[in-house]
Amino acid sequence: MQFKFRLGTKTYFGTDCVKSNKEEIAAAGTRCMIVTGRYSGKASGALDDVVSVLDELSIDYYVFDKVENNPSLENVEAGGRAAREFNADFIIGIGGGSPLDASKAIAVLAVNDMQPIELYKNSFPIQPLPILAIPTTAGTGSEVTPYSILTRPDIETKMSFGNDQTFPKVAFLDARYTTSMSRDTTVNTAIDALSHAVEGYLTKRSTPLSDALALESISVFGSCIENLVNNDFDMDMREKLLYSSMLAGMVISQTGTSIVHGMGYPLTYFKDVHHGKANGLLMTEYLKFNYDCQTEKINNILSALKIRDLDEFEKVMDRLIVNDLKLSEDEYEKFSRQSEKHKSVNYNLKPVTYDDILNIYKKSLNK
Ligand code: NAP
Ligand code: ZN
Repeated sequence: MQFKFRLGTKTYFGTDCVKSNKEEIAAAGTRCMIVTGRYSGKASGALDDVVSVLDELSIDYYVFDKVENNPSLENVEAGGRAAREFNADFIIGIGGGSPLDASKAIAVLAVNDMQPIELYKNSFPIQPLPILAIPTTAGTGSEVTPYSILTRPDIETKMSFGNDQTFPKVAFLDARYTTSMSRDTTVNTAIDALSHAVEGYLTKRSTPLSDALALESISVFGSCIENLVNNDFDMDMREKLLYSSMLAGMVISQTGTSIVHGMGYPLTYFKDVHHGKANGLLMTEYLKFNYDCQTEKINNILSALKIRDLDEFEKVMDRLIVNDLKLSEDEYEKFSRQSEKHKSVNYNLKPVTYDDILNIYKKSLNK
């Protein structure tokens, strides 16, 4: 047995964990830039809680609430500039994956004299500002991963950077902040978390320790399926989904994702499909494609979910997400060419060709 496991984030989980652990905020610095979206910080109640702690601690703050969904390089460049102008010495990210990912880029750009494109060099001469992360979706696990996934119009896709320097220093997970999500955001983000656990479990880079976390994440997700398909969202389910997505984030922080994510990016970039939904549309065919090569592991996934077989899995996914996408033949080919070049292809245990990718797309979206 041989593996590396590293996690740079101190994690607090539970109701009111921001206020009960305010000494972490006090220790982080004296000038805070809050990075959030236009809506999520306020709607979730997290922004109010953070501001009240900052006021109590007499910490100066500036709210940058301009993070776009699937943030672009220009968007994080503006955030980096704002952090410099404010002379921030730490960042609190509040939101879904978009604001949390943006926080990581902003933390780097605030102190390093570099163009946003240079983030992809993945080496930062000056240590990025410390980041405290507060998720308001239960999906990306970005609060415990080093990754920041940004939109790159120059190469027409989304691309991630991140290294040990970009792990959030502290994560506060309070499921109350996820209750304001709409039904679709709740379901799409939950499916993103499942996709992280599943891909992390099946990738070549999985380890015994990441597998244990992945199966736990999948099993907790499984215990929420009935609530999800019946739109019966109680606090118990919210808390479980947040726990499951955190575990899945810990998995991918070791293993990375796989071809579902690689193939999902063109759907988000060109067709504006939510990240989690894009993964959900592709997941069944990805599992069917890999079944002969990873039968035992895929059966373990199904058992953890308490689902009989892949046909039943497909039915569950069809109840959760509606496929309203229609791709032209040109789009299928363009997206397949792009996905074929994505690094995740190298991490799928079963070799993947252009034709395999094209087939997965068509079987997933042409039903
Ligand atoms: P998101 O893009 O952060 O948010 C989607 C929408 O939900 C936004 O309109 C957001 O509002 C709203 N929202 C978020 N929390 C809410 C709440 N509690 N109440 C009401 N509305 C809320 O969605 P996401 O799925 O969490 O993140 C997706 C991004 O994360 C993608 O860019 C993806 O590539 C990335 N990602 C990162 C990792 C990683 O490891 N770092 C892993 C997977 C995915 P606002 O407009 O106010 O934000
Ligand atoms: Zn994801």
